[in-house]
Amino acid sequence: MNAEIIAVGSELLLGQITNSNARFISSNLAELGINVYYHTVVGDNPDRLKSVIEIAEQRADLIIFTGGLGPTKDDLTKSTIAEHLNTSLEMDQVALDSIVAYFERAGRTMTYNNNKQALVLKDSEVLENHHGMAPGMLYKSGEHVYILLPGPPKEMEPMFQFEAKPKLARMLNKEDVILSHVLRFYGIGEAELEDRIQDLLEKQTNPTIAPLASDSEVTLRITAKTGTEEQAWELINGAKKEILEIVGDYLYGYDDDSLASKTVELLREQHKTISAAESLTAGLFQAELAAIPGVSKALKGGVIAYNEEMKIKQLGISADLLAQYGVVSEETAIAMAEAVRSKFGTDISVSLTGAAGPDAHGEQPAGTVWIGISDENGAKAYRLQLSGMRNSNRLRAVKLALYYVIR
Ligand code: ATP
Ligand code: MG
Repeated sequence: MNAEIIAVGSELLLGQITNSNARFISSNLAELGINVYYHTVVGDNPDRLKSVIEIAEQRADLIIFTGGLGPTKDDLTKSTIAEHLNTSLEMDQVALDSIVAYFERAGRTMTYNNNKQALVLKDSEVLENHHGMAPGMLYKSGEHVYILLPGPPKEMEPMFQFEAKPKLARMLNKEDVILSHVLRFYGIGEAELEDRIQDLLEKQTNPTIAPLASDSEVTLRITAKTGTEEQAWELINGAKKEILEIVGDYLYGYDDDSLASKTVELLREQHKTISAAESLTAGLFQAELAAIPGVSKALKGGVIAYNEEMKIKQLGISADLLAQYGVVSEETAIAMAEAVRSKFGTDISVSLTGAAGPDAHGEQPAGTVWIGISDENGAKAYRLQLSGMRNSNRLRAVKLALYYVIR
């Protein structure tokens, strides 16, 4: 089965929003082994929508629409598709009841427009909307399957995941079990990782191995399609073993792990506490950790000492040291890490200092970062030369600092 995703909405064409719906749906279809060949974006215009449907029907079996299911005049996905497929819209009682209930709960009066949201394509399977009002639909006609989903990601994503995806899985070969396992790497670029496992990438058909890079992180998704769950895991584990023999040093986690969640997990397992002295990142490192539930057992706190005066006053760094080596230096990073570790009485501490850019910091070019780590074995600092824009450098520094803690 191959698919095309049609995102409907003039805001997308005007550049006001990003087509994140297509990204979400594509990655979920990949897990089902459905190939997505085309992403299409079209404005809120019935003629142009009709023409992209006609094109999609020639090149895809499964056509998934997002957007334009709402109550306003520009929401014309349903009516256009109904007309195109020569069918009608009818009221869905379950959807109508839930819209009525929604208005009662909110204490608002329902207008006729909102009734319209409960209209669905005749003979379609209705996909319930648990996070909004407009229901989705799955409709089969001839060789094609059409899925209509609402535009807002917070409605679309759960509807796709819990309503549409299981139906699609059942429509595919019922015999097949499809399982995916994600390996997460840090400290290695996508090109290098792909290069090193080139042979594996080329020879694999089942399971498939799909690399993906974002935020200086590289993931490999291993997907197996076979008779039983046990066999699928056997295939996945075989490929995983071969991959890790080559690039296992860079692996930090699996599936839903993040660098921050792994850091918290590790610290909690070892009953260790952490603190941070942040210049460059002004609190981002601690904010990243604080997003993880249960972090309070590990994170004690830290100091934001952005300028020199505060490095002296809050952390007790000597003015001489700053004058001799500069703020962006190995010596300062180590002194900051040691100072915050003793001030907060933690097992581990991290410091971040650097020239975020776009300007250089004295003799240190933009993108120079020093990350200090102090623990019971002493302190050391790592130098990075980042080449991104100011804020992406700051975020990368946070991720690298987490990586140094868990490594
Ligand atoms: P509503 O009932 O909210 O009007 P709808 O199904 O009619 O929903 P749209 O009106 O097309 O959907 O879009 C509503 C909002 O959903 C947009 O303003 C945008 O924030 C978000 N949205 C729509 N399409 C996408 C997309 N492809 N990717 C990400 N967000 C989207
Ligand atoms: Mg709308």
